[in-house]
Amino acid sequence: MFNKILIANRGEIASRIIRTCKRMGIQTVAIYSEADKDAPHVSHADEAYLIGKPRVNESYLNIEKIIEVAKESRAEAVHPGYGLLSENPHFSNACVEAGLIFIGPSGTVIAQMGSKIEARKTMEAANVPLVPGINYALQDNKEAAKVAAAIGYPLMLKASSGGGGIGMQVVNNQEELMKAFEGNQKRAMDFFGDGAMYLEKFIGNPRHIEIQILADQHGNIIHLGERECSIQRRNQKVIEEAPSPFLDEETRIRMGEAAVQAARSIGYTNAGTIEFIVDENKNFFFLEMNTRLQVEHPITEEITGIDLVEKQIRVAAGEALSLKQTDVTYKGHAIEARIYAEDPTTFFPSPGKISYLETPEAPHIRHELAIHSNSQVTPFYDPMIAKLIVKAETREEAIKYMADALKEYKIKGIKTNIPMLINTILHPAFLRGETTTDFVKKYLS
Ligand code: ADP
Ligand code: ADP
Ligand code: MG
Repeated sequence: MFNKILIANRGEIASRIIRTCKRMGIQTVAIYSEADKDAPHVSHADEAYLIGKPRVNESYLNIEKIIEVAKESRAEAVHPGYGLLSENPHFSNACVEAGLIFIGPSGTVIAQMGSKIEARKTMEAANVPLVPGINYALQDNKEAAKVAAAIGYPLMLKASSGGGGIGMQVVNNQEELMKAFEGNQKRAMDFFGDGAMYLEKFIGNPRHIEIQILADQHGNIIHLGERECSIQRRNQKVIEEAPSPFLDEETRIRMGEAAVQAARSIGYTNAGTIEFIVDENKNFFFLEMNTRLQVEHPITEEITGIDLVEKQIRVAAGEALSLKQTDVTYKGHAIEARIYAEDPTTFFPSPGKISYLETPEAPHIRHELAIHSNSQVTPFYDPMIAKLIVKAETREEAIKYMADALKEYKIKGIKTNIPMLINTILHPAFLRGETTTDFVKKYLS
């Protein structure tokens, strides 16, 4: 096992990874920018290194600098967390070239799944059901119009390199497509350095249901069941739950098998997630694969009793998975709510200083925090500041626990989305499990 791991991330996920390392007796190295001098992850780690200015390009995305710190601190492995460099194939390769172990898949596999177009081609070849659409980049909006007419509206226009709901837009007719094409192409170019756009059928009233998988370096691949992440704003998740209130046992089994097959077809190793979109008739289609730990991984940990970060570390160290598929069992119901520093009505980020913070405590509550009283929420990073996770025997009970916990959460000094989370969790449609991806638009605006 490793003696020391560098965590190439910040915020709640850095602290969460450090926690598991401590439990495993592994030393930790944190990195931080000038804006994060007082951030919790810095004090949680055994060592911490200042790596640059607040802007991510000058700190958390500086591959050379991070590798330099890893070597200087004599870390043996690097955990990338999620976001930032976690799905950057160059980073995975750079770690390996520097003699470090990257806790995640190879650069080749990351690159293959990082392009949604490439991923679609691969999954088609592996017989995993795809959303109807094209598997190549559109030249211009003229070609887009032609392709769109052939598939039929409504359509989802997507950036091949997209993530975090960026670079994608629903288009209902040619006029909307013409308006949307160049803007999204430009956004994709700005955000991802790649303007490749494609089209797929817009699935009506769908659910986002994803399967967690775990794969070792000896050919063993298992899945850890599903997470339903349909409650979204701007095509980005805000509330997730496991198990899904929508799936039946037969569909659940078929999705698990499809996810394992998808991972096997690319020689995947480490933890990963296959995201599916599921239509009203429980047909499921491959959306994308995230080749990293997912923001919402705690709900899977809560119902399976498995520490995903520990599994990631063990697999990266070359250990064989100690679990077979039949060893994975599910108990109870877990819900996660993402707390963002944002205006609850416009969803615009709301940076500022947290003047007061009080979080509810109870045995059924788990916090993943990136803040404390006096924390400065800066505009430089993702505005997600905390995750609140509850676990109960039943879904009804979990909903009640979540509503109570959210009401007791006290954050002063900045605006948060907590009012919106409460409105969602207490909505009769949520209680009935009518959690389609248009929930927020349909019931809360
Ligand atoms: P998940 O699929 O795990 O729910 P998301 O797609 O919401 O994750 O993104 C994971 C994290 O990375 C989030 O904090 C998100 O804001 C951030 N993220 C994803 N893509 C980008 C991007 N292109 N630029 C900045 N942050 C991003
Ligand atoms: P990202 O990489 O930004 O996470 P995804 O492809 O995973 O992008 O899509 C994000 C969300 O957008 C999905 O969870 C879903 O709500 C919505 N979405 C994506 N594709 C479609 C589609 N074809 N039809 C309907 N909704 C979609
Ligand atoms: Mg996604």
